[in-house]
Amino acid sequence: MTDSEGRLRVIIVGAGIAGLSTSIAITRVSGLQNVDIQLFEQATRLEEIGASIALSPNVELSHFNTSKHTKWGPRDNFFASRLGKNQYTTVGAYEDTRSADEVEKSISWNDTGDVHYLQERFKYWNPVVKALTEFTPSTRLFPNFAGHPLSTWVLGSRVTLVGDAAHTHGGAFAAGGSLALDDAFALALSLKHVFAASPSGPEGFTERKIEKALHIYDAVRRPHAARLQDIVQGLMRKKSPSFTTPEEEDAALVFRMNNRPSTVWLTEHDVERAFQQVIGSTGVWTEDDGPKE
Ligand SMILES: Cc1cc2nc3c(=O)[nH]c(=O)nc-3n(C[C@H](O)[C@H](O)[C@H](O)COP(=O)(O)OP(=O)(O)OC[C@H]3O[C@@H](n4cnc5c(N)ncnc54)[C@H](O)[C@@H]3O)c2cc1C
Repeated sequence: MTDSEGRLRVIIVGAGIAGLSTSIAITRVSGLQNVDIQLFEQATRLEEIGASIALSPNVELSHFNTSKHTKWGPRDNFFASRLGKNQYTTVGAYEDTRSADEVEKSISWNDTGDVHYLQERFKYWNPVVKALTEFTPSTRLFPNFAGHPLSTWVLGSRVTLVGDAAHTHGGAFAAGGSLALDDAFALALSLKHVFAASPSGPEGFTERKIEKALHIYDAVRRPHAARLQDIVQGLMRKKSPSFTTPEEEDAALVFRMNNRPSTVWLTEHDVERAFQQVIGSTGVWTEDDGPKE
């Protein structure tokens, strides 16, 4: 919506990767002028929580530290990485057999964990993993949930979702940060496309045009995220295996490694190309009829 001075007012809720990158992308990529961006964050201060974020090659930043160590198990995963500033992160991802409701009631985001649980859980793993858990001084808990794809990311005519709010996928393939950055970029490209003729308003910033930009963004990003969410839901439907011998567990791991889904479509995804394909298609929107299904 525009304010009394004809500026486009953009309100972003949440200063996580998605909110911050959306703010940057609208400022630098959309080409929009005369925009007033307001960013709201519930946290009273922004601080590191000690987790590392690995980015996919399609959004990898040249200065990003890529020294990391990942191990996969039949059920659990282990990940360690140097964060810089003499800090390190170790992530032990495991499946909690309780229901999502029970987990949500018993664990809050960033709760203090029990480092002995981490050490116990990974004690029979590769000696490097075992040693890393023994060097880990403390742990924090971050319950992760995987949701189903949403039917739309456009709420009403002026609100949309970016990042985890649009696509919870339970942390699979460590893709959430990369997806958030790509979402922000696609949203800025959509705004640029719709407002190219009149980037500074005021007559250009109509509700109808904003809605059109949001539907283009939705068409570029939602199918991509849904593909990932469907894969994750499929993996979750598979019953968690139980083993009686280490040999059985090893065989299950080999099977898992040989049959895991390729993620090249995810890690090498070209968001600009996807955007051009949507723009070049028969259209996700008509001025008269609104969004096409
Ligand atoms: C331990 C861990 C390791 C991870 N590793 C990786 C990795 O290696 N690679 C990767 O790509 N991803 C990784 N992820 C996932 C990645 O961190 C998330 O996908 C990403 O941070 C999502 O960004 P976001 O901005 O959408 O959400 P968030 O980072 O959750 O940010 C949302 C923000 O909104 C704020 N907020 C919420 N409600 C309100 C409100 N009502 N009003 C105002 N503010 C509000 C919150 O306080 C928060 O700051 C990891 C996650 C965890 C927990």
